[in-house]
Amino acid sequence: MSWHDRDVAAVLDALDVDADGLSSEAAAGRLEEHGSNRLASSESTSALALFVSQFREALVYLLVVAAALSLAVGLLPGAEPKYVDAGLIVLILLANGAFGFVQDYRAERSLAALRAMSVPDATVVRGGEERTIPAPDVVPGDVIVVGAGDAIPADARVLSSQALSVDESALTGESVPVEKRSDPVPADAPLAERSNMLYMNTAATKGRARAVVVDTGMDTEVGDIATGLAAVEDEETPFAAEVDALGRRIGAGVVGLVVLVAVIQFLFTTTDPLAVALTAITLAVAAVPEGLPAVVTLTLALGSQRLLAKNALVRRLPVVESLGSVDTIVTDKTGTLTENRMTVTRVHAGGREYAVTGDATDVDGDFEPADAPTADGGAVQPQEVADDPALEAVLRCGAVCNDATFDPDADDPLRGDPTESALLVSAAKAGFDPTFDRLGEVAFTSERKRMTVVGREPRSHAPTTDDRVDGSPSDDDDGRRDAEGESVVAYTKGAPEAVLSCCDRILLDGEVRALEDADREAVLARTESFAADALRVLGFAVRSLDGEPGGGVAPVDEDGVADPEVESGMTFLGLQGMLDPPRAEVADAIADCHDAGIRVVMATGDNAVTARAIADAVGIDGSESRSGPEVDELSDDALVDAAMSVDVFARMSPDAKVRVLEALQRSEQTVAMTGDGVNDGPALRRADVGIAMGQRGTDVAKGAADVVLRDDNFTTIRDAVAEGRGIFDNVRKFVNYLLSANAGEVLVVFFGVLLGSALFPAVFAGGGDALVLTPVMLLWINLVTDGLPALALGSDTRSSDVMRRPPRPSGEPVIHARMAASVLGIAATMTVTGLGAFFYALDATGDLRYAQTVLFAFLVAVEMARIQLVRRRYGQSPLSNPWLVAAVLASLALQALVLYTPLADLFDVVALSANGLAIVAVASVGFLVVGTAVERALDVLVTNRTQ
Ligand code: ATP
Repeated sequence: MSWHDRDVAAVLDALDVDADGLSSEAAAGRLEEHGSNRLASSESTSALALFVSQFREALVYLLVVAAALSLAVGLLPGAEPKYVDAGLIVLILLANGAFGFVQDYRAERSLAALRAMSVPDATVVRGGEERTIPAPDVVPGDVIVVGAGDAIPADARVLSSQALSVDESALTGESVPVEKRSDPVPADAPLAERSNMLYMNTAATKGRARAVVVDTGMDTEVGDIATGLAAVEDEETPFAAEVDALGRRIGAGVVGLVVLVAVIQFLFTTTDPLAVALTAITLAVAAVPEGLPAVVTLTLALGSQRLLAKNALVRRLPVVESLGSVDTIVTDKTGTLTENRMTVTRVHAGGREYAVTGDATDVDGDFEPADAPTADGGAVQPQEVADDPALEAVLRCGAVCNDATFDPDADDPLRGDPTESALLVSAAKAGFDPTFDRLGEVAFTSERKRMTVVGREPRSHAPTTDDRVDGSPSDDDDGRRDAEGESVVAYTKGAPEAVLSCCDRILLDGEVRALEDADREAVLARTESFAADALRVLGFAVRSLDGEPGGGVAPVDEDGVADPEVESGMTFLGLQGMLDPPRAEVADAIADCHDAGIRVVMATGDNAVTARAIADAVGIDGSESRSGPEVDELSDDALVDAAMSVDVFARMSPDAKVRVLEALQRSEQTVAMTGDGVNDGPALRRADVGIAMGQRGTDVAKGAADVVLRDDNFTTIRDAVAEGRGIFDNVRKFVNYLLSANAGEVLVVFFGVLLGSALFPAVFAGGGDALVLTPVMLLWINLVTDGLPALALGSDTRSSDVMRRPPRPSGEPVIHARMAASVLGIAATMTVTGLGAFFYALDATGDLRYAQTVLFAFLVAVEMARIQLVRRRYGQSPLSNPWLVAAVLASLALQALVLYTPLADLFDVVALSANGLAIVAVASVGFLVVGTAVERALDVLVTNRTQ
């Protein structure tokens, strides 16, 4: 059925709903019938598929085949059956697979949880009242309200539109926003021309509209083409890719070594090709770090859960890495650095200034003239607002040119934009009811920095329209205004300079007269004096449209869009200054960022003086600032200088923000940038870390951002950066740990067979397992070291100095020179001390099994010790992570189980006597001493800025 060619009444009829929307019960019924308004996600992997995917590695297949073959050969007449080895290999592989599965499953689960958190809200009309509900609960027949910045929650037919424009590029590829109206369009109109339809996953860029939902979920147009658009994308992170690539290179190297080992073995020790192959493949399986990328992903995914606990919702996993290397944070002011709880404290109207008392949500409050002589005792006599028409006009303008609501008795008395809410409260303090029949508006945008409404009001309410100002020619004898009839009036509010530019008259001292340059300057000077006290200042103006040609006919089209021409020839009324205190905790957070070598730059839409006053209050250098128009004038090169040296940017348009961002990025800065408006999308997308505000941000901003701050608070950005650095440290810790352990194992086996064949030819010619370690031992070492301890290391606690070192240079690889040197140095130390112990034990007893057991126990012990060697460089004490302690103890207990229970027979090891243990202990201490010396030497020889 098509909806676009029918009129509104027919559409509502067909959907069995009226303009008041559905009742809650009807909506619940429809939700059951149509299901949740979601696009099916193609990415949910079943647990079984995830488990099976753990065994996809070619090497693992090879190993299973080799184990099966050796079992089969063992079954041949006359051969010795090898059930135990084959069975153990398969068991250990299964256990390893289980570990991989747990990791992937947890990563998957935390990503799914993040995805669920990213669900947007929708505003619906239910039973005549507007309500905010999760978008998945929207049903066909719901009347929705959409405004600039909202994501369209479902396919809907427009009922009424006030200049709504929608960016439909997600659906049609057309990047120019399309204007929406309610009139029917021809039945054969293609999708892109159905100007009365709204489509799911597109976004409103301007204006406002009501629409009735016609299709939800997979029935929508985007549902038709989508195979699932997940809010959180499963991108491979650059680290995982880097580690993956490295793993492949190491893999190739290992396979080369393994072939060598096999050749040596074949030449000197055994001629049983199957035994040689089995050993070689096992070595490859144990040494190739194929699980590393998965651990990186898990670490990032778990890290993003910790970030969520700190109110930062990560929408793209790779950003967790970028967070750790942020050099510059470009933040807006209102709501991020300040509380966004505005209270009008000063008003300037008609040439007089008033201090406003009372608080942010309370109707009690007075207007105290600044110039009033204090009555006895020093108390200022409050002004009766009705006696100062200019004051009344300023307050009235603020109240009617306003989309917020104020209900002093409600739990949540203020709804809407805090700037506008403050104006409602200041008007309420004057005690008047702003009756105004709004006919249309010119909407607010951050570029215009003002908004205008056009409407009808009782003549008695229009005190300032030109000739009826305070006692000037009036309609009746006693000087009161004519209370009869209605006026058509335009009211404008916005940044004072933006409002002044619409005015050619000013209301001063009870008179309306031409606006001179001197008046403009006086208004701007007054604005500055308000702003110097960190007040946000708005200007107000009015224009009567009664005397216009067409007398009293509002210049508003049928969709409620006022002709921008009304914003000219206006009368300037005055100013209101509102206090928005800095958040108490922000100054500390900024100091922490400075300690961490991170610059904090403010880029605000507000005026420079207010911006600098707030900057100084929170510890940003407010001594210098640049404004958006100044930024526009600067060449790219000059802007780079400014961006690197000035910390406050005021009156910024979204475009100017993007230019500052690009200038910073040209200077190799990793930039985190905040944004909340419809037009902040490009900046958020381009920033290394785009941060949107969860509470006051538009859906568009949230959709473009990498991180959404659930509490809109700057301190959360600091916490997220600290967490990002900690996560990055952890990635480095376990990559370092795993690589050095694996490299150690390969070198031990390689040099072991070389030296063994040379030094103890008789022993080493003993058969397939005549190696320093058997395949089963290698797999076991891999299981107990790469399993629990590596996992615990991946979610290790943060070192206390994360925010006291400079940011990591952007583009620095995970494995930098220092780490590569450490991996090789430690692997070499492990080889020397380990083989020393092995050959000592072999020489002393001539028993290969005994010597193998010593080496087996040694490797597990030193790999546990290696964890702390890695952590020590981060200033972390051995007991600071209880999970890690538990993991290490569990691994050691498992190892003891293998050595000292009947399992020993299965693993072909002997229970180590005191002597054997002493050899292990001495070798381990030797490893620790040499290993520590190696690390120290590297600290001196290979300098890296970061850990
Ligand atoms: P920040 O960028 O730090 O959030 P901001 O809220 O001042 O600061 P914008 O929302 O772009 O940034 O607003 C820019 C200017 O437009 C404000 O300083 C104010 O003068 C004016 N303004 C803000 N809200 C309104 C509004 N609802 N109606 C009219 N003018 C407004």
